[in-house]
Amino acid sequence: MSLPTIDQYPTRYRFHYCPLDGTPLARKVIHGMERQYCPACGWIHYPNPNIAATVVIEYQGGIVLLKRNIEPDRGIWHLPIGHAEFGEDPADAALREVHEETGLILADLQFLAYEHSPSYGDARLFYLVFCFTGRAIGGTLVTDLAENSEAQVLPLEDIPPLKWSSQRTALTAYRRLLHERER
Ligand SMILES: [Zn+2]
Repeated sequence: MSLPTIDQYPTRYRFHYCPLDGTPLARKVIHGMERQYCPACGWIHYPNPNIAATVVIEYQGGIVLLKRNIEPDRGIWHLPIGHAEFGEDPADAALREVHEETGLILADLQFLAYEHSPSYGDARLFYLVFCFTGRAIGGTLVTDLAENSEAQVLPLEDIPPLKWSSQRTALTAYRRLLHERER
């Protein structure tokens, strides 16, 4: 597989100057790839994917879906999802995002799968999404109007096809988990 080159980096990684001392960056092969580096201090640019967590929430016999109210993809239905903060374990990010976006408190959080794929906002950027499932044991389902306009609870079999690949990965892994629980 061919990896993105410096000239294929997403907009947010188009660096021209060293972030530490402002020296114009140069390029050379470091650890097998051409990378940007600072000739003055030796800083090397290692771009990383965005890290996020999404959760299949079991609540009142169904799964919680939210209607997105921000761009990109305003209006789509999705599972609760959010970025992990720097230094934050993805499992902790999952619990925090669920509480912020839905008001629910989860128990028995379980890792399902991960998804690594291009961002829908900028295909040159990548997302590493950790998919979990958990059972709501407290709180009341509310909608965070800043990011979501509606919430609904649907039986698993009634969930429509979801746009984001991370969500499809999460649901596929969740169905597999249910199958294993039944055995
Ligand atoms: Zn520097």
